[in-house]
Amino acid sequence: MRILLTGCAGFIGSHLARYLVNKDHDVVGIDNLITGGLKNIKGLYETGRFRFINSNVSEYINVSGRVDAVLHFASPASPVDYLRHPIPTLKVGALGTHNALGVAKAKKAVFMLASTSEVYGDPLVSPQPETYWGNVNPVGPRGVYDEAKRFAEAMTMAYHRVHGLQIRIARVFNTYGPGMRPDDGRAIPNFITQALTVRPLTVYGKGTQTRSFMYIADLTEGLYRLLVSRYNGPVNLGNPDEMTLLELAKIIKEITGSKSKIVLRDLPVDDPRERCPDIRLAKNIFHWHPKIALKEGLTETIDYFREVLAKSGSRKKRSNALKNQ
Ligand code: UDP
Repeated sequence: MRILLTGCAGFIGSHLARYLVNKDHDVVGIDNLITGGLKNIKGLYETGRFRFINSNVSEYINVSGRVDAVLHFASPASPVDYLRHPIPTLKVGALGTHNALGVAKAKKAVFMLASTSEVYGDPLVSPQPETYWGNVNPVGPRGVYDEAKRFAEAMTMAYHRVHGLQIRIARVFNTYGPGMRPDDGRAIPNFITQALTVRPLTVYGKGTQTRSFMYIADLTEGLYRLLVSRYNGPVNLGNPDEMTLLELAKIIKEITGSKSKIVLRDLPVDDPRERCPDIRLAKNIFHWHPKIALKEGLTETIDYFREVLAKSGSRKKRSNALKNQ
């Protein structure tokens, strides 16, 4: 396939681009680098199957030639990022989705939307099946992301119903792995960088809120299976292994062997109290379930963060040495 991938320089987008190229597909990636980074896609050029376009998909998407699939993954996605960029987040969910759907329609391509467990908001049902409509505060700080993705889902379904477009909607639950930014503000990068630099692990609230964390390689596999399935509707992709944030902080402390303390900080507004995917649909349709255990995935991720921190440490040392010359 020749695949157009928006958000190709982000954490999930860049892993997905690598996965697709390894399967011998050609990928045209678009990103405006608002939260993604060129270093995520550095290794992709040499495959000869990847092309990068630096542009904002909320404005216009211009791709010449055949396109078999459009995968719309562009969006700030960590709460810290979308609170920093609320309007670009709303625009990429609304205008960016409209533009990406327009390309899919013009090229007669299958369209896939990266949606999110945030469409369920602070859920009153757990685990969350795809049939649950959610509990979202539209005017709260997280509303910019949640409502953008809910609109994106509605728009995607309208293109399916009106234009007969083949569509896939992946509701992605919390995902982690190498390639996340140490400063992206999410729980796993925060706890790991705090543990490795022996600073306190900042657990928000009492740490009794729950999440379930999926390793990135499990997600890319699930996304691909969904893409090549024939299912035109939302499908949860997540790891149902649910835990509290306090438990997660303790596990990261244990694996890193860190002497950091765990401290409690204010809970962000509208922070969901529990989140756990019901993945029976993905199991039934394309026989997918996550395979990588948390400790295994965390060990890989911690190794990655060790390298990143060591590199940035030696960069700082070099620039201090230059300053002192
Ligand atoms: N969280 C935390 N400490 C941090 C960062 C996040 O306790 O340093 C909590 C956050 O309040 C939420 C959970 O971890 O309850 C997951 O947050 P994350 O930002 O990873 O993603 P979310 O699931 O909220 O989108």
